[in-house]
Amino acid sequence: MHVDAKLHSDAATRIVLADAFGLVSDLPTTVETGCGQRVPYAMTASRPEGVTCTACREFAAEQHADAAEQALRLARMPGIGVPIDDLLRAARAHRDLAERYREA
Ligand SMILES: [Zn+2]
Repeated sequence: MHVDAKLHSDAATRIVLADAFGLVSDLPTTVETGCGQRVPYAMTASRPEGVTCTACREFAAEQHADAAEQALRLARMPGIGVPIDDLLRAARAHRDLAERYREA
């Protein structure tokens, strides 16, 4: 099982949009993986524990660590229109995920 290479932006966007506006974007049927392949979405796992591809785990850990940083940066910007609590929650969620991808 692999990870969706876009997981970090999509996941972050989904968390923020779903919380702030009640929107959830559609998932694609095939995705590019963290290790550079294109596979059906069904061959990707959304839980870190389900990802068996080592390259994808490393990729996902880095992406989630970056996403956590981005959410924290956004939280420090005034007037972006998203509640700071949501961004801090997203940052925490990404940091937790990064750690889970690193523990294998
Ligand atoms: Zn992979």
